[in-house]
Amino acid sequence: MQHYRDDFPILGREVYHRPLVYLDNAATTQKPRCVVEAMTAQYYETNANVHRGVHFLSQRATDLHEGAREAVRRFINARSTAEIVFTRGTTESLNLVASSFGEGFLKAGDEVILSTMEHHSNIVPWQLLRERKGIVLKVIPMDDRGVLDLDAYRALFTDRTRLVSCCHVSNVLGTINPVAEMARIAHDAGAYFLVDGAQSVPHFPVDVQALNCDFLVFSGHKIYGPTGIGVLYGKEALLDKMPPYQGGGEMIARVTFERTTYERLPFKFEAGTPDYVGTHGLAAALDYVSAIGMERIAAHEDDLTRHCMERLSCEIEGIRLFGEAPAKTSVVAFNVGHLHPMDLGTLLDRLGIAIRTGHHCAQPLMARCGVEGMARASFALYNTREEVDTFVDALRRVVRMF
Ligand code: PMP
Repeated sequence: MQHYRDDFPILGREVYHRPLVYLDNAATTQKPRCVVEAMTAQYYETNANVHRGVHFLSQRATDLHEGAREAVRRFINARSTAEIVFTRGTTESLNLVASSFGEGFLKAGDEVILSTMEHHSNIVPWQLLRERKGIVLKVIPMDDRGVLDLDAYRALFTDRTRLVSCCHVSNVLGTINPVAEMARIAHDAGAYFLVDGAQSVPHFPVDVQALNCDFLVFSGHKIYGPTGIGVLYGKEALLDKMPPYQGGGEMIARVTFERTTYERLPFKFEAGTPDYVGTHGLAAALDYVSAIGMERIAAHEDDLTRHCMERLSCEIEGIRLFGEAPAKTSVVAFNVGHLHPMDLGTLLDRLGIAIRTGHHCAQPLMARCGVEGMARASFALYNTREEVDTFVDALRRVVRMF
């Protein structure tokens, strides 16, 4: 995968006179030239607002925007582009579902199941809904390796359970949750299933029909695409029954002061001028990773993850690794003795190594692990074994300083 590094200009830069080792990919990935160039070309050559424009540029921009929707559909194997809603990112997609599904499908006393390892963006929208509607939230526990307890999960269902909303891959533990099996259990109990794919879609092939999930959400910026664009996939029959999320232009069929009717899917959920340059950039990113092959990317990142875990556990005295599930990918979270993760991150930064420290927007998970924060290295297709070695060697050096 080494030669793909040349596609990412930023990887050639130095920080503090040292080559950059970028291991903060779970927060956001770097962008290949083809994504930036696609967006620049659109601004320079094809910029016009989309939909309903009769002029050349508007029609061309609309073709690119709707072409991007088709690229997303193909990438996650949705049945129809009506099932692909563009949003600002995973967070907005989750808020859309909580708000619209919550409005249309949930009453006081109805239950939504989350897991211990959710990102705040898959917790707080449901708590806001709980305040508005009086729904009940339940949480799937996990064991010390970071594996969800499926027996406990089964036992959470009652005749009031309406939805399970769970991450496919934890942004802290790297655990790959068995979401296809979990969706089947939810469906057997008459509940819907949402997959937070923010950390799975960038790392291995995800097929919404194979998973048979009802919703899937992810962000463009974590899969080498631009910031500010994301996706909500929803089964057409379900999206069709859900009320609009925001009102405005684009999402209406006809407006009078007395009554408004809404556009067909997916436009019903896309009020206002969409980020049509962002969708074009996202399509370029999906084309880019598809050409490399998601299976190849998965195998490479898996190798980096195993190599990193192995070296850390053998060579760093006092290390505590968080997340040792058998099915795990691309994320390695750790603490060393009583050292503050922020100190580790700051000192590694001076050596050119970018990792993330803190609560990783998963404070309930931090509480479950009995810590305030962790350090986290996370990998992308352009990372190398040499970079992992540089990181582990640097960590040894830093730890010796204390
Ligand atoms: N869910 C998970 C599992 C994540 O890792 C993240 C980003 N760290 C989010 C949701 C939120 O994504 P965004 O900030 O792009 O909306």
